[in-house]
Order: sequence, then structure tokens, then C-alpha cells
Amino acid sequence: MKYVIPFKGLKIGKHHFTFELDPLFFEQFDSSEIKRGKCAIEVTLYKNQDMMELSFKLKGYVEVTCDRCLEPFDLPFQISESLYVKFSEEGNGQTDDLLILSEKEHELDITQNIYEYIILHLPYQRIHPEDKFGNSMCNKEMILHLNEYLTDHEAKEDTDPRWEQLRSLLNNN
Ligand SMILES: [Zn+2]
Repeated sequence: MKYVIPFKGLKIGKHHFTFELDPLFFEQFDSSEIKRGKCAIEVTLYKNQDMMELSFKLKGYVEVTCDRCLEPFDLPFQISESLYVKFSEEGNGQTDDLLILSEKEHELDITQNIYEYIILHLPYQRIHPEDKFGNSMCNKEMILHLNEYLTDHEAKEDTDPRWEQLRSLLNNN
């Protein structure tokens, strides 16, 4: 699927475009930590004499790894963003939400915009949501295992010979 808005020839006024995120969408970005997701994209384009405003609405989910139990889960999102487009003879450029296009352009590829809106909107901390009764939906067994592993690990570190060496060094001073 192509995420392209053909704006040349559109009448002045409001226009609607809808897209559905391809299941393989995130694979085209090598550095993407997100591999899977689903999203409906609605773009409303307001065309003026010499500029355009694009209003994006994105609704869907991406698969992320829970910070607490390390299991994957679907994190829902709902995003609204705006992009302003101006035209100039000199050509292309972009600042935050203003895009300057050459007057020769006739379509706008919004692939990168969609990707960035989703990625930048993800919370820093990702934890399973609660169910309708307020219970954490984390994998409890997994958390138990993780805790066991951690305590085990700490216990081992305590008797690490390097630590013993360091301790005796410190005690000698
Ligand atoms: Zn979890």
C-alpha cells in the first residue's frame, strides 16, 4: 500500500483520505523497535490558494514489550496531528509541522509522517494495562520467575570472588 496524497488538481476546500496500515508497514524502517501494529489513518486536507493543512487522525495499536513482565502486548493509541504545507520555487524544506514543497510537486508521501507520529507518541514506560476489575494483566508467573532470577543473581554476586578481593582491598586501607 502507498501512503500518498495526490493534491494536484484538488479543488479549494476540504478533502478526505483514508488509509489502513499495512501489516508489514514497520518492516521498511530498519531501526524500528516496533515490528507489528494495526492502524486506521484519516487525513483531512484543507486546500487554500497557496497552502494546505493536513489534519491526521490515527487510531490503532502496536505490539510492544511490557517493561514489567517482558511479555508482548498490544498498546492502543489515538493520535491527532497537523501538518502545514507551503509551496516555494526554491524547493523542499521542513520545520516541525511546516513542510515546504517545490511548486512542481503534485503528491505528498506521508509514510514517514505516519511512522514518526506513531513512534513519537509511544510512552517511555510500557506496562500491561489493567483489566476492567483493576487487576494488572501482566503475566504473574513471568514476574515470579524474573524476581527469582534477580534474587538468585544478586545472591551470586555477593559471593563473587572479585567482590571479595575488592572488599579485602578496601579493608586494608
Ligand atoms: Zn506485563
